[in-house]
Amino acid sequence: MIKKVNSIISASWIFTADKNNTLLEDHSIVILEDEILDILPTKNVFDGYEANEVFALSEHIIMPGFINNHTHAAMSLLKGFANDVPLKSWLEDYIWPAEKEYVSEAFVKDGSLIAIAEMIKSGTTTFNDMYFYPNQTAEAAVEMGIRANIGLVVMEFPTNYASDPDDYLKKGLDFRDQWRGDGLISTSLAPHAPYTTSDKTLNTIGTYADQLNMTIHTHLHETKEEVENSINQYKATPIQRYKSLGLLGPNLMAAHCTHVDESDLNLLHQNNVNVVHNPSSNLILGSGIADISKMLDLGINVSIGTDSSASNNRLDVLEEVRLAALLGKGLNHQPEILDSKNVFKMATYNAAKAMNKSKMIGSIEPNKKADIVAINLDSIFSQPVYNPLTSLLYNGNQGGVDYVWINGTIKLKSGQLENIDLDRLKNIAKSWKAKIKKT
Ligand SMILES: [Zn+2]
Repeated sequence: MIKKVNSIISASWIFTADKNNTLLEDHSIVILEDEILDILPTKNVFDGYEANEVFALSEHIIMPGFINNHTHAAMSLLKGFANDVPLKSWLEDYIWPAEKEYVSEAFVKDGSLIAIAEMIKSGTTTFNDMYFYPNQTAEAAVEMGIRANIGLVVMEFPTNYASDPDDYLKKGLDFRDQWRGDGLISTSLAPHAPYTTSDKTLNTIGTYADQLNMTIHTHLHETKEEVENSINQYKATPIQRYKSLGLLGPNLMAAHCTHVDESDLNLLHQNNVNVVHNPSSNLILGSGIADISKMLDLGINVSIGTDSSASNNRLDVLEEVRLAALLGKGLNHQPEILDSKNVFKMATYNAAKAMNKSKMIGSIEPNKKADIVAINLDSIFSQPVYNPLTSLLYNGNQGGVDYVWINGTIKLKSGQLENIDLDRLKNIAKSWKAKIKKT
């Protein structure tokens, strides 16, 4: 008996990111509604299934959709606004004053729409965000049809969005209540950073995380200066301080961790903290290089993020994966570490695990949501292809991303975004630039 399904995607190669990091050849993925129903050899697929749409991708490698595990989508409107300055000055002299002047519901909605178009076009199917006006980011995500884990940002000082930590938390939790149960949107508590949140606020966040069983998303050990200031002020590194406040645990996603000594590393390991590596942002801001190979050796769950467009200028997970591999090999003088399977796992399964969503997304397996990317390996840049995974890792970039499905729906087809008007989004970006430049 032949079963009717929505789509069949046949490809030369499928990297599943399952527990064995399986690479399949000449297999097909069968999609029913929003889920992967079956994965089987292409020669047998039409014996059992008949699909509304069939995609025969003989020059493509298929992967689970990339998960950008640390970003601030709305900041795409500040792309290139302040490059070539260190983090402290970048924040205090440029980003925070600009945010005070311009950040609003409209800024967040428009910036998020632009970022999401860029992310889908480069193969990202889920992003882990942290910014003001979370409702606008969520609305943009649902409008564009991408999955998002939205951080409920909390900091000590007032912004256009909220007046004090209680106000941030109240607004964030109200937002969470409104969106609970949505198929694409989930939430994390998001204390911005150790240097922008007090012990009292962090304690309150820890209590909410315990009571509501929520993940926590934060910046941690981003610069050497952050660590030194914390030792001066609290007689503890930020990681030690988070430990004393009960925040280190498997529900914590710590972005950066560029400067960690042995004892910090052991604390991350013993407490099963999830580290999010953002190599481009750390390099652009001159913050340093996180030595993730040491973390992976210990068994720490490491995933990949782009950080925002304001400190990266691109939201291309493939670029971050390549950098992660190259930096790790170069730092340790070990070409065999951070191999293609392990770094692509960081951009897929590891990120899903950090978000506590590994039962739903992060690998290509039956009963998981159909979040899938297909990347073309037929360009002149890629030829010849001896090994599709190393070819993609060292040679691939966002230009090769041809197809993206999210929740079973096609969002990118032959390199073109479905139902998304790129010219409109480009004009929105230009009009914000004109406004921001004038003052
Ligand atoms: Zn960040």
